[in-house]
Amino acid sequence: MSGLLAPQFQNDEAARKHLEATLWPDGPVCPHCGIIGEAYLMKGETTRDGLYKCSACREPFTVTIGTIFEDSHIPLHKWLFAIHLMCSSKKGISAHQLWRNLWGVNPDTGKPNGSYRSAWFMAHRIRWALGKEPVASKLSGIVEIDEAYIGGKFRHAGSYTPKPGERPKDRPSPTANKAPVLSILQRDGEVRSMHMPRVTADTLKPVIEAMVDKSAHMMTDSASALRGAPMGYKQSKVNHSAKEYVRHEDGVCITTNTVEGYFSILKRGNYGVYHHWGQQYTDQYLREFDFRYNIRKLNDDARATVALKKTKGRRLVLKAPKGS
Ligand SMILES: [Zn+2]
Repeated sequence: MSGLLAPQFQNDEAARKHLEATLWPDGPVCPHCGIIGEAYLMKGETTRDGLYKCSACREPFTVTIGTIFEDSHIPLHKWLFAIHLMCSSKKGISAHQLWRNLWGVNPDTGKPNGSYRSAWFMAHRIRWALGKEPVASKLSGIVEIDEAYIGGKFRHAGSYTPKPGERPKDRPSPTANKAPVLSILQRDGEVRSMHMPRVTADTLKPVIEAMVDKSAHMMTDSASALRGAPMGYKQSKVNHSAKEYVRHEDGVCITTNTVEGYFSILKRGNYGVYHHWGQQYTDQYLREFDFRYNIRKLNDDARATVALKKTKGRRLVLKAPKGS
């Protein structure tokens, strides 16, 4: 069964079996010695469910060891449900929304049961898991690169009301409290985004060289910080300040519209769903959005399976936000 009514979202045991089937397609994997398919399920009244014992090294283990779920007091089916929701909503899902969906709303008080803090922790742990794997291969083909400022509240010069006694030079700049983001997008392929506190040709160059294959055809806006940097790539520019967005050269479409479309998903998520995430979490949110974009051609269930496979690995320790 698929969809939100699937048993792995309803009860803990079905969730554990679903996780076992996803992480152990060839049988239980012992986290102590690495042997596959040589463990047996332990049975007994005091034995907790899903406890295996390795026939090779005699050590006990469960499927959640070494995953982001290990030692969590939150039932596994709620974790799986949260992952499914995060994978299926294009602009993301806020911790508040997660809280309501996972614990339900108390009809007497109108408030969700459970705790906001738990939902917040879950969302961040999942986000971390989605983006933790190192980049494997470089982007190639046509690669669109652009920078954007995400988040913060834009104070428009025309509508900004100066405080009494404030001099013009003391006004906050339109990009103050926004996070500069660099996105590198292979057309019809993957995107990789990162928070770049300083966007200059010198800071961009090593990042791009690490991520983009030398054979790529790079496309940028002529106002990009990259404009003057000889990068050793074939490079085409569109001139947005002259209202040029698309042109064709030798049968190739020169544009940065794809990466800008991606920025608009990020901005709608930041503004509409996450209500301006804190700058310190920018990289985490970018991982979440990149992850969803990069498997956009899969259906919701397949996306959630890819996400579940990423839950194995070192866990994250986070401090809760103030005042939550
Ligand atoms: Zn073992």
